[in-house]
Amino acid sequence: MFASVLIANRGEIACRIARTAKALGMRTIAVYSDADAGALHVRLCDEAHRIGPAPVRESYLVAERIIEVGRRSGAACVHPGYGFLAENAEFAEAVATADMVFVGPPPAAIRAMGLKDAAKTLMEKAGVPVVPGYHGERQDPKFLKEKAYEIGYPVLIKAVAGGGGKGMRRVDRHADFETALEGASREATSAFGDGRVLVEKYITSPRHIEMQVFADGHGNAVHLYERDCSLQRRHQKVIEEAPAPGMTREVREAMGRAATEAAKAVGYSGAGTVEFIADGSKGLRPDGFWFMEMNTRLQVEHPVTEAITGLDLVEWQFKVAHGEPLPLAQNAIPLNGHAVEARLYAEDPDRNFMPSTGKLLALELPQGKGIRVDTGVTQGSEVSPFYDPMIAKVIAHAPSRDDALANLATALEHTVVAGPRSNVSFLAALCRAEEFRAGHFDTGFIDRNLQALTKGGHVVDHAAAAAGATRLARRGQEMLAARTKGADAAGTSPWDVNDAFGFGAPRSVPMPILVDGERLTARIVYNHDGLSATIDGHPAATEARFVDDGDDAVYVLTGGHQTRVQLADHAVDADHGSSDGAVRAPMHGKLLALFVEKGAPVTKGHRVAVIEAMKMEHTLTAPHDGTVAEVSAAVGEQLAEGSPIVLIEQTE
Ligand code: ADP
Ligand code: ADP
Ligand code: MG
Repeated sequence: MFASVLIANRGEIACRIARTAKALGMRTIAVYSDADAGALHVRLCDEAHRIGPAPVRESYLVAERIIEVGRRSGAACVHPGYGFLAENAEFAEAVATADMVFVGPPPAAIRAMGLKDAAKTLMEKAGVPVVPGYHGERQDPKFLKEKAYEIGYPVLIKAVAGGGGKGMRRVDRHADFETALEGASREATSAFGDGRVLVEKYITSPRHIEMQVFADGHGNAVHLYERDCSLQRRHQKVIEEAPAPGMTREVREAMGRAATEAAKAVGYSGAGTVEFIADGSKGLRPDGFWFMEMNTRLQVEHPVTEAITGLDLVEWQFKVAHGEPLPLAQNAIPLNGHAVEARLYAEDPDRNFMPSTGKLLALELPQGKGIRVDTGVTQGSEVSPFYDPMIAKVIAHAPSRDDALANLATALEHTVVAGPRSNVSFLAALCRAEEFRAGHFDTGFIDRNLQALTKGGHVVDHAAAAAGATRLARRGQEMLAARTKGADAAGTSPWDVNDAFGFGAPRSVPMPILVDGERLTARIVYNHDGLSATIDGHPAATEARFVDDGDDAVYVLTGGHQTRVQLADHAVDADHGSSDGAVRAPMHGKLLALFVEKGAPVTKGHRVAVIEAMKMEHTLTAPHDGTVAEVSAAVGEQLAEGSPIVLIEQTE
């Protein structure tokens, strides 16, 4: 086996790779950006080398610098993880040129599968069923629109260089085609530096089912069964499971054959995933699935496959890269029970899943029989705006699907995240959703059930807010008590309510607070036992946990939800939308498009700008009717959170 490995990645996947590498006796070499100097993957590896500032283009995507670290540290091989340089054929070549082994497929195979249009053409030739559509050279909008009409709506426009669900637009009506094309192409240019697209039939009742494949340098190719990744939002996976509900032996054989054929057609070796879209409207059928793309790397959701097969996929990757044959033949690969993975993200389901950053003030990840957690952070870590805001993957493995889902839901309900918002209660609700539990779902499931899954959007939890207000008021009272022990007892503090005591009956005073940014008034009631707060008559929740932050705020945790309570007097307005007519960057990001210029009339909700942040596009709209009075940012500019973009003056 290799003596050492350079792990060209960060976060949970870097930690995951280090675990197996260590078990195989390898020296582990980490790389890190300035933002990751104290990160878990750095602490876990035997040595770590700085490769640059926080932005990925200056660190994790700089091939030369990573290869230089490999040379200097004498790494025998390089594992790229997923994302970053994992599917970059030039990087794989450069690794080989520097006399290290790339733990992944041959560069030619990466290239063959790199662009979706060329891959589809190649698969068609190999006899693998592909989604019907146009994946040729021509890109003029008029021609593509005609093709869309021929294919028949709904169609899907996809960036040929796409990945991570970006550069993709579903179009239902001929009239909407141009706008969708423009959006897909712009997103693709910005994300991949390649605006070309393909157009394909949008499969109805789509289920995303993918096959894990493995090939070696000795002509063997096997599959390690399928994963169902149909629970998605914006074409990105949220929950993945193996095996796929409703899978039959016949369909699995057909899909497995197509997947291994696909791998063989490009001279594959190592781990890969062949993604299919299946028509789920009448159950899975051997002739009802089509090739979408092949991901030539280890996949985020590989743990569910590890759970049901009992195999270590990273170990297999190292073995194959080292020139060994695949450890098992097709018929010797086990399949036991059912596994489900949930991607725990720092994002806010109540606010359209907006990524959320900041310090993880509290983080308690679940443990238990059949529960696995893969993470790259610990309590106190910072979720930075520079990288994917995934906190952890939580995986449950049990004899049956029902048990696995129930155990995963329970595990998520016992997970504590404070500081950044998280999708933990949304994930738990998904695991408990009856229709999903019954196996009735497709890729539209989350969108269709969003209201129920997010409990109808943001609602203030009055009881939690009252509990937070109580805590703040008590804290203030203690501070005051400490201060008044000294000489001067200033009389202007909201805590200066000593006159409330000694008159027999409980007295109450109003206390302005901000609850998740919303202004409310708590009533602080003083009685002989001390004080407590109510909000709109709601008493404080009794089953709550508190996490204090340094900034006069308290996080109240109740059943997977967090409510942030802050004294209004001390609060900075956290709302970047606006009462003042300014449209501001909701977070750190790049201005992609501006749709208005100075003097232009706009109506409330009018699209004014698009900002790219956290690898997603966010459309910003006018807060009210009016006229554009000022434009204070330019397309292409990097904007700090809260910086103004345009000012809209209200018309009388
Ligand atoms: P999967 O099909 O496994 O979800 P994706 O194509 O969505 O794979 O990407 C895998 C992961 O790689 C993502 O979850 C993301 O964290 C990471 N990733 C994708 N693109 C990039 C990128 N350009 N830079 C950094 N990380 C990326
Ligand atoms: P990416 O490289 O971004 O992962 P994919 O081609 O794998 O792009 O597509 C991402 C997701 O979009 C799929 O998982 C699936 O949910 C949906 N999708 C892709 N193609 C189709 C299609 N033809 N019909 C319906 N849904 C599709
Ligand atoms: Mg995909």
